[in-house]
Amino acid sequence: MSRYGIENLPYGVFRRPGEAPRLGVRLGSTVVDLSPLGGLLHQSTLNPLMAAGRAQWTAARAAIVEYVSAGPARIPLSDVTLDLPFEVADYTDFYSSEQHALNVSAILRPDSPGLPEHWRHLPIGYHGRSSTVVVSGTPIRRPSGQLGAGVFGPSRRLDIEAEVGFVVGVGGRRIHTDDFAEHVFGITLVNDWSARDIQAWEYRPLGPFLAKSFATSVSPWIVPLDALAPVPANPQDPQPLDYLLPAGPGFDLRLSVEWNDTRVSAPPFAAMYWTAAQQLAHLTSNGASVRTGDLYASGTVSGNSRDEVGSFLELTLSGKEPVKLSDGSTRGFLEDGDKVTISGTTIGAAGVEIGLGEVTGTILA
Ligand code: CA
Repeated sequence: MSRYGIENLPYGVFRRPGEAPRLGVRLGSTVVDLSPLGGLLHQSTLNPLMAAGRAQWTAARAAIVEYVSAGPARIPLSDVTLDLPFEVADYTDFYSSEQHALNVSAILRPDSPGLPEHWRHLPIGYHGRSSTVVVSGTPIRRPSGQLGAGVFGPSRRLDIEAEVGFVVGVGGRRIHTDDFAEHVFGITLVNDWSARDIQAWEYRPLGPFLAKSFATSVSPWIVPLDALAPVPANPQDPQPLDYLLPAGPGFDLRLSVEWNDTRVSAPPFAAMYWTAAQQLAHLTSNGASVRTGDLYASGTVSGNSRDEVGSFLELTLSGKEPVKLSDGSTRGFLEDGDKVTISGTTIGAAGVEIGLGEVTGTILA
């Protein structure tokens, strides 16, 4: 059975050669043009629909299901170009996998491994660079930067971070965790490319900066929340402050990371400590606003074992134990020409497995 059947119908923006971009939904390995439905669905980007709010999202999905059920024309994905499906407003990246935080701490700070003192009290995050959020398939030019005192050059420790992104439809301030589904339109897969050598030199005390801002790739498909099946969030200790409660839903998303066509990892989103509702509540808790098109990402998704980690820093223990790929070569960090694809599946609201799209990128020198 296709993971892109009528139970799923993720949104994207596609172009045929010489034509303007249009909204579509993915059906199998084809896309269905939504422009005949008019209004919010006859657009070149998802933003107008996203801004219209949950009642319109539900109505649009019902209309699309009816339209797709009637057997409209389908355009093979091989005949179209997929664009960034929404105009990215602001971009925020969290750090909400406890196992990832522990792994990074053990690798980078072996003298004092463990979680930072505040980690279980608030969802740590930083503001990223929305202007360099790019759609899957966009080549990633190896970044250059300061690698240490007196050294500027191309990063030698280029890495990935497999994450899940949440796309804000309706903006707001001080968003309660209970209102998560009124504000968040859907999810997308994210690769937060990271230059570990630049990061290690620059990040203290203010966190990631140029080590991350050169590129963030997203899937061209936005899976609407309505297609997903929430699961109970994980227990939290200590109990979070009131503004972070109730925790809101968890999601049992199973990610997959391929390095040059070798599957190297299967990060489990269900293991995340902080929920997307808590991240949004925290992000807006000081009075800061979010707006239509804001993207916030979960943070690297890592589970308890080496084959469940969401970064190559963890997979190869910072390059000390290179991973063997199916062509017999070994890797510590990314080499020029390497390709990484992150994909995902989940059991959706209809009780069947659905695809979460994929985000891919190839490294240029
Ligand atoms: Ca990240």
